[in-house]
Amino acid sequence: MNRRKNGKFVISLDLELNWGVFDVFTIEQYKENLLGAREAVPQLLKLFRKHNIHATWGIVGFLFFDNKKDLLKEVPDELPNYDDTSLSAYQHIEQIGENEIEDPFHFGTQLINQIKQVPNQEIATHTFSHYYCLAKGQCAKQFEVDLIKAIEVAKKHNISIKTIIFPRNQINPDYLSICKSHGVKLYRGCEKHWLYKVTGKQDSKFKRVIRLMDSYMNLSGHHVYVLDDLVQKDGIIDIPSSQFLRPYVKRMSVMESLKLRRIKAGMEMAAKERKLYHLWWHPHNFGADLKESMNMLGEIITYYQRLNEQYGMESVSMGELANTLLKKSYKVKHDEDSNENRGVSHAINQMA
Ligand SMILES: [Zn+2]
Repeated sequence: MNRRKNGKFVISLDLELNWGVFDVFTIEQYKENLLGAREAVPQLLKLFRKHNIHATWGIVGFLFFDNKKDLLKEVPDELPNYDDTSLSAYQHIEQIGENEIEDPFHFGTQLINQIKQVPNQEIATHTFSHYYCLAKGQCAKQFEVDLIKAIEVAKKHNISIKTIIFPRNQINPDYLSICKSHGVKLYRGCEKHWLYKVTGKQDSKFKRVIRLMDSYMNLSGHHVYVLDDLVQKDGIIDIPSSQFLRPYVKRMSVMESLKLRRIKAGMEMAAKERKLYHLWWHPHNFGADLKESMNMLGEIITYYQRLNEQYGMESVSMGELANTLLKKSYKVKHDEDSNENRGVSHAINQMA
């Protein structure tokens, strides 16, 4: 069986703790989710290990430190110059505690070490400072400084970064070549539909409501992708999202079966048509109703296993997908070259 041709199931998680939400909630308001995220990580890893799920973890660079002193030492000279200064993680740094024991909301080395111990888990970057690539005021140079720091700090943990997950999915097309020049080969794109287009401005309530409805009923399509179409002209690979996995929410519990049905239908389509299905979320989304959300995920993983047995669908991390896709484009290129060579020798033979 040519496994390359089978459908692929990708899971990516954005691990950020409070660095991803400090401008939206106070710690008091979001405490349950943030502490719950720290419980969710080992439970997710246990499930992934048991069912051989290969996942990609996009981690904020600040979480790679276990104390404030070390983090402050690595603050770059050039900081993101957002017009809205409340977005800047550097503004928030002064308020954090001294270390991971004292302040579990802003440090993550214990979690990173847990992830590193489980096979087939890819650690990607979610930028150094949870950087907003479409925010007004910042520029390409500031993004590059941030990216370099993110790659450096991961390297100190013996991690080589080849995937980026952009915070709030703010993808600035001008920054993709910067990523590539620093060895980053892949990013997570958004669903190719107006509902999921990220502009950097707050979405209208209408758009948010329709997007919420889209999680329960198929309004925008299944967002499954032909693998060979993912490599872009400039050589960077967009592994787009199929669906954000909304956590279990008690007040919406009657809708849970609809949500699961929608996800399973997309997965099944990808498995049958040998395409990609990509599910993503944040561990903190699971934080509030962890048990129920883990049960929901368990059902999705069980369904994946059925698709694996029936159609050979494979669980792959984003990084593993790059290996396959880039090898394939190399092969195409290589074949083209040898065809050209054949053409040349044919012409020479003709001349002779
Ligand atoms: Zn984020």
